[in-house]
Formats: sequence, C-alpha cells, structure tokens
Amino acid sequence: MASLDVAVVGAGPVGAAVAALSAAPGLRIGVFEARSAPSGESRILALSHASRMLLEDAGAWPASHATPIASIHISQKGGPGRTLLEASDQGLPALGYTVSYAALEEALTRRLRDLAIEVRYASLCERIALDPGKAALRFATGEEIDARLLVLADGGANAGKIPGIAFHEKDYAQSAVIGSVRTDRAHGDRAYERFTPQGPVALLPVEDRYALVFTAAPGEAKRLLALDERSFLEELQSHFGDRAGRFTSIEGRASFPLRLRAVNVPVALRTAIVGNAAQALHPIAGQGLNLGLRDAAALAAAIASVPAQDVGNASMLEAYRRSRSRDATRGIAFTDFLASAFADGRRVPTWGRGLALTALDLIPPARRALAARMIHGASD
Ligand SMILES: Cc1cc2nc3c(=O)[nH]c(=O)nc-3n(C[C@H](O)[C@H](O)[C@H](O)COP(=O)(O)OP(=O)(O)OC[C@H]3O[C@@H](n4cnc5c(N)ncnc54)[C@H](O)[C@@H]3O)c2cc1C
Repeated sequence: MASLDVAVVGAGPVGAAVAALSAAPGLRIGVFEARSAPSGESRILALSHASRMLLEDAGAWPASHATPIASIHISQKGGPGRTLLEASDQGLPALGYTVSYAALEEALTRRLRDLAIEVRYASLCERIALDPGKAALRFATGEEIDARLLVLADGGANAGKIPGIAFHEKDYAQSAVIGSVRTDRAHGDRAYERFTPQGPVALLPVEDRYALVFTAAPGEAKRLLALDERSFLEELQSHFGDRAGRFTSIEGRASFPLRLRAVNVPVALRTAIVGNAAQALHPIAGQGLNLGLRDAAALAAAIASVPAQDVGNASMLEAYRRSRSRDATRGIAFTDFLASAFADGRRVPTWGRGLALTALDLIPPARRALAARMIHGASD
C-alpha cells in the first residue's frame, strides 16, 4: 500500500488549489479524481479579485480566459433605488472576474504537472477508514493508499460518511436557470443584478456575451426552460428592461435547484473538508468558490506550518478549523441572508429594497464595505 503525506480526493478547483498551494520539497501529495479526464465543463464561475491573487500565488491564474467585472449595477423591477459598485471605488483593476470551470481546471492541472504532483484520474474513492494515525482510502480501481491527511474536496459526495460530520441544510425552493446570452450592445465589463418579484436575475460579462443566472420557483424555472428562444428572450427583456441592451440570443439553457448545505465542522480525524464539500451555497452573492479557494489557502498554510510528520495531526487540524471559522460562518450567513431576504421577491417589500439600494448609492462607505465584503470575505 502506498503512503502519502496528503491525499486530496477530488480534482475540482478547490482540491487542485490545495495541492498546488501545499507543494513543498519532500512532501508527498497525491490527487485522486473520479472522472476519467478533466471535465471541460463550460459552467461560468465568478471569482473575486482576492481569488485572482490567490490563484496567481498558486501559479494557476488563467489570465487569457478571464473577463474582468469593472462594475456591478444593482436595481429592482417595479420600484425605486439602484446602485453601482465600481472597481475604481476600491482602488482595484476589477471587482472580480468570470472564467469557465474548464479554463480554471486547465490552469490548475498544468500547474500540478509542473510541480510533479500526480492527478490520478478514474480513481473513485469508495471507502474511507480513519484512525488517529492515518486515513486509509480504497478506490474503485482496487488501489489502496494511506495518508497522514485526507483532504476531502469531492464536492460533498463523501462527507456524510465521516464520523462526527453532520450537515446544516436548507432548500430555498428555488431553481437557477442558467444560459449564455447575447445583447445588441457591448457589455463594457459591467455585471447586473436585478431583483424581480420572481427572484434575482444576474448577468455576468463573459468574453463577448453574458452568463445569465435567472432565479425562479421550480415550476416557473421548468416553464422558462421549455419556452422557445424568442419567448424566453421577451420574458427576460420584460424583467430586465433595456439597461444591458436588447437580448438577441440564448444558448445552453439548463437549471439546477438552489440549496444550502454546510458541514457542522470542517475537520475530523486525519481529515480536512474544503470547498463545496464543506459548504455549497446559493449563487446570489457569487461567494461559493471564493470561499472554497480561501479554504484551500488556509489549509495549505496550516500544512506548511508543521513538519511533514505532523501533517494531519489534531493540532494542525485545529489550527485549520480556527482559521476558517469566522470567514466560513459569515460567508454562509451573508449568502443565506441575501438568498432568504432578497431572492424571494415577496419577502422584502419593494420599498424596503428601494431604501436599501438608495442608501447604498448615497453612502459611499456603505457601498465600499459591501464590495469589500464580497471581494475579501470576513477573514481580514
Ligand atoms: C450549475 C452550477 C453553477 C455554479 N456557478 C457558480 C458561479 O457562477 N460562481 C461561483 O463562484 N460558483 C458557482 N458554482 C459553485 C462552484 O461550481 C463550486 O463552488 C465549485 O465547483 C466548488 O469546487 P470544488 O472543487 O469544491 O468542488 P467540485 O467542483 O464539485 O469538484 C469536486 C470534484 O470531486 C470529484 N469527486 C466526487 N466524488 C469523488 C470521489 N468519491 N472520488 C474521487 N473524486 C470525486 C468530482 O468528480 C469533481 O471533479 C456553481 C455550481 C453549480 C452546480
């Protein structure tokens, strides 16, 4: 049986970032991925400026595939109030960026190759046994390994099997309809978030188009998916107005249910839980992956702070847990607040939202604080 210092289960962006950031001479790291090859997924991810810096540190920023978000226009349908968050207010080149999952995956995989860290594809982890000295893993291939530290970065597939891990779960009874839309006007690196009675609609600039996230009740989402292109674009236009121009096409419509799922504690015997495996969030504030990448950086720092023989021991894991506690709790609470109060258009009256948006517009420090919260999280 092979022995490693760090075994990462899941080669998604967070697992790959843990491996890239933890690389050190003499530290034996292996990454195990269920898929038979990189996913090549076209899903568009929103990354904050802080996540860009973190990925640059990891040597895996996909610069040529990133579209900057220079400003975010926030408004509501059928009521007053709007605000504009701008990168220049923060003294930054961009508030955030959009990149495809595939581009990020490619940059991280290349970096792992340069660091001589092997990603073992077609390695579905199907058994985890933990004891105070090691984590023992068995894969569907029949291979068995043990490691001082198991990094669970599998998006949530296995955390429920770990003793002591429980979940906080909430079903928002909403779905996100996503797709790639074009308008007759250049986006100028501007993103839009618009609150409507059905739920928020977001447009994120991606290359020469937008990624659309249209939140709606599940029945409504099903209806939207079934509409022909022209009828869908007309409905979108009526929700959105013409602030981004006239919608001319939509491709790749899909939907997924919106839920919160977070572990009670991100550590167990010889185990650290990171990324979506630790917390899967509503996309309203674009926090999910940013929080996951901060998990990766904090875990890499905890690993680097101890000699190899102490990797994965109780005090290293406790240092990791403590370093993530505030940011994770607040990130989850912030997203849940926005999702519960704003995502369902019926819960907060239009005038209440109007007041909040007007206040943000008139009070620059409040606007800067909101933008800073979205960029850096609550760890600073
Ligand atoms: C449709 C959709 C749209 C999203 N849009 C956004 C967005 O716009 N912005 C944003 O910030 N976030 C978004 N998210 C969330 C974002 O995708 C996640 O935050 C991010 O993918 C989490 O990365 P991860 O590495 O933790 O997990 P994942 O990306 O889920 O990766 C987990 C990996 O583990 C592997 N795996 C699973 N089980 C096993 C096993 N037993 N053995 C070995 N490997 C295993 C999987 O194959 C996968 O490769 C979206 C999520 C979804 C579902």
